Amino acid sequence: MDPKHQSTALLRAGLADHQLPCADQPELFFEPDTSDRFGEKPAAKEMRERSARTLCLSCPARDLCLELALREKPAAGIWAGFSSDEITDYLREAA
Ligand code: SF4
Repeated sequence: MDPKHQSTALLRAGLADHQLPCADQPELFFEPDTSDRFGEKPAAKEMRERSARTLCLSCPARDLCLELALREKPAAGIWAGFSSDEITDYLREAA
C-alpha cells in the first residue's frame, strides 16, 4: 500500500517490522551531544551525514520513513536520506 494512504500508526508499525540500518548505528543520524562549546565540526558533520544518507539508500523501509518524516517534521537528524532542514524546505516549497 502507498505509504501516503497509511495511518501514522501503520507507518510506525511498518518501520518496526524491518531491520533498519539506523538502528545499528544511531550515532550517525543525529548530531552528537558534545560538551565542546563549538559543537560538531563541519567536516565531521558532513562525513557523518554522508554515511547516514548512504545507509538510508539501502533501507528496506525508506518510503515509510520518508512519509513519516514529512508528517512529523523532525527538528533534527537524517530521515530517509534527507536532513531535517531539507525536509522542512521541501514542505515549505510544496505548500
Ligand atoms: S531510511 Fe529512515 S528508517 Fe531507514 S535507515 Fe534511513 S533513517 Fe533509518
